Amino acid sequence: MIQSLNPDQIAAITSGEIVGPGVTTAIRRIAIDSRQVIDSAHTLFVALKGAKVDGARFIPDLIAQGVSVFLISKTEKSNFPGITLICVEDTKVALQKLAEYQRSFFPNPLIAVTGSNGKTIVKEWLGQVLSERFLVAKSPKSYNSQVGVPLSVFGMEGFHQVAVMEAGVSQKGDMKALAGILQPDLGIFTNIGAAHDEGFADRNEKIKEKLTLFQKVKLLIYCSDHPEINEVIRQKIDPEKLISWSDRPGADYTRSVKILEQGARIILMKSDLSTHTFFTQFSDKASLENVTHVIIAALTLQLNPEQIQQGLQHLKPVDMRLTLKAGINDCSLIDDTYNNDLEGLRIALDFMKMQRPKSRKILIISDLLQQGSPDHWCPEVVNLIQNHGIDWVLGVGKSIRAIGDQWKGKIDFFETTQEMLDGLKPEFFQNDLILVTGARAFGFESVINLLQQRIHGTVLEINLNALTHNFNFIKKRLHPDTKVMVMVKAFAYGGGAVEISNHLQTLGADYLAVAYTDEGVTLRQHGIKLPIMVMNPLEESFHLLRQFDLEPVVFSLEFFKKLNRWCFEQDAALKIHLDLDTGMHRLGFEAGDLAELRIELQHTKNLKIASIYTHLVGSDEQIHEEYSREQLENFQHMKDSILEVLDEKPLIHALNSGGIIRFPEYQWDMVRLGIGLYGIEVTGNHDSALKSVSTLKTTVSQVKSLAPGETVGYSRKGMMEKGGKIATLPIGYADGFDRRFSNGKGYVLIHGKKAPVIGNVCMDMVMVDVTGMAVRTGDEAVVYGQEISLKELSERIGTIPYELLTNISSRVKRVYYLD
Ligand SMILES: *Cc1c(COP(=O)(O)O)cnc(C)c1O
Repeated sequence: MIQSLNPDQIAAITSGEIVGPGVTTAIRRIAIDSRQVIDSAHTLFVALKGAKVDGARFIPDLIAQGVSVFLISKTEKSNFPGITLICVEDTKVALQKLAEYQRSFFPNPLIAVTGSNGKTIVKEWLGQVLSERFLVAKSPKSYNSQVGVPLSVFGMEGFHQVAVMEAGVSQKGDMKALAGILQPDLGIFTNIGAAHDEGFADRNEKIKEKLTLFQKVKLLIYCSDHPEINEVIRQKIDPEKLISWSDRPGADYTRSVKILEQGARIILMKSDLSTHTFFTQFSDKASLENVTHVIIAALTLQLNPEQIQQGLQHLKPVDMRLTLKAGINDCSLIDDTYNNDLEGLRIALDFMKMQRPKSRKILIISDLLQQGSPDHWCPEVVNLIQNHGIDWVLGVGKSIRAIGDQWKGKIDFFETTQEMLDGLKPEFFQNDLILVTGARAFGFESVINLLQQRIHGTVLEINLNALTHNFNFIKKRLHPDTKVMVMVKAFAYGGGAVEISNHLQTLGADYLAVAYTDEGVTLRQHGIKLPIMVMNPLEESFHLLRQFDLEPVVFSLEFFKKLNRWCFEQDAALKIHLDLDTGMHRLGFEAGDLAELRIELQHTKNLKIASIYTHLVGSDEQIHEEYSREQLENFQHMKDSILEVLDEKPLIHALNSGGIIRFPEYQWDMVRLGIGLYGIEVTGNHDSALKSVSTLKTTVSQVKSLAPGETVGYSRKGMMEKGGKIATLPIGYADGFDRRFSNGKGYVLIHGKKAPVIGNVCMDMVMVDVTGMAVRTGDEAVVYGQEISLKELSERIGTIPYELLTNISSRVKRVYYLD
């Protein structure tokens, strides 16, 4: 919440012009995301123009939700009856000005952290250590950008006794705005590294840029062992203000570290030779540097060494990313066990909203410890619970009970985490989406532990973050306006079409494509809204195309006429896609069909051409370069001749994954991304740039020792001449473990070591040679994934990665996670 403001005041602060009624609405919240609006009557929506979305697009929706005051760019100026628009030059700058204003109401110390690495960790850890004594406001997650910093400032409240904020820059000039907003009293400069080098002429310039943040600080903490930083800081900042530390004598604090069996001991000696000793469970260099910054900042803020040690005790490696884990009974778990504040809760609930809907949404939450009195935060939590449609709340702690007075949904309270764990049974949960979020002191890791699925047997793990990475890698290689159709045929190359399509929807894919109508129907039945092209729709499925809003590919004159006739009789309109055959010779119109097609097209009222495409036969291979180019040239002529007779211009597309890499000049309006999304770069030019999305894993069922001369499996194919040890794995050719991997052609990884297949692969099982390895029942075996490339495996048995991916049987469980 912010200091209450009316639109006139906002206009004055942002130099904006009011359009529409001048109202006196008290604005207490600022939102930049249409999904985050809670108290719409008192919310100002700031329409930012991002790379992906344009905030102004959401205005009509937001008006329907009850928002009546908007801050928009002058260029978007328009009129909505009864709505107040504040029009400004630049909405981002206006947001920053509002933050600057809000900042001026915070009288207590504000600590700003910047540097190349570790700023989020230092901010989090310092926030935790300081909470031994103070109520702390801190920026959520790694909110450190031109927009993240203002949002962080809006989270600072009157009751907070200290604020810890991080600031990051990616190019010259960025920091000035952040310095104006934060006006830090105390600064921490963590270190300097390669991140964002491309935005600056050199390191020196980057350090100077970062130092802009600290022009007006009272004190600046830094490590003088980084020569580049030391030099620039000494030039730029008044030495009176500096608090330096070093592993060598001469700094304000001289540090000596002793690595212990578990963790490390840090001794800090001041120039008056007084010393403080601390213990930490970390022993790696980066963590020790971060901890040292935290200790010195805490000392500077007058915490006593006992309080600091107490705080250090509980620090954990911070992974600020929210993770989605596979839970018991088909549940999905969102692990946010490190979180403790309202802003973090809001982010986690948003993240929850983006996941594929399950039966229920369940929130497991503890008291919020750094948010002042429950009178303040309980209504906010209730607000969030209502807005996010939570079905069941499990609350742990004393204060959280208060939400029961205001929220009438299903709710259970427990005094302690242990009490809840004792009361929970796995069968309470079934196909639910569960958010686990709580203050560190509640030890919610044990809740995650209880609810997390333990693998036994064979699973295919799908890492949705790797998918995001690959999607963005491809997207960056394309013109910003080029659309991306993603091929989710064949169960999304084996990964699971529904889950992956849902994820693609949130990533901003433009189109999906499937091979058959029923694949499209399944997607629709699971709430997928993107347009879907069906490549080979059969006649008996025409009514489904209409019913489920699917767009068939039309590939012959005969098919065109059939579909057109059906649509005419049914009085149905369908969007269709035309497949032109330029060499694939699978489906598609040939050059000789075009004259008649042009006539047909001019006479249909029911079929609308959404796109025209062709498919390359050898885009991945250099040797077919010339043929591919011929295909693309022929397509160019063929599609032009069709375009002549169309009133509206359809999308034109030709490139699959290989084509995107090799012929970007032919991207036209759209590309069709397939295997690249799933982490395989078929051209071999960017092998390391893509991340493997799926990992096929299984567990050892049994280990046996065999005497010399014994054989393994059917037909006695596996020979153990010298005897040895084998492990049996519960995966066979019926699961998609190819029988051609028999007799040493394939292998799995157990504890990172290769265990070759011995004997013939059976239908449901396979034996691997683990002679000389320490392997026990229940150990994990990786069949493929980041460490075993599918390309290599497929070459071993003379096939292609596509086949291995799509062969994984549907009886193998898919689990999805975001790491
Ligand atoms: C499968 C398919 C693609 C995707 O091919 P990848 O090589 O996996 O990128 C593109 N277009 C059509 C018509 C396809 O059938």
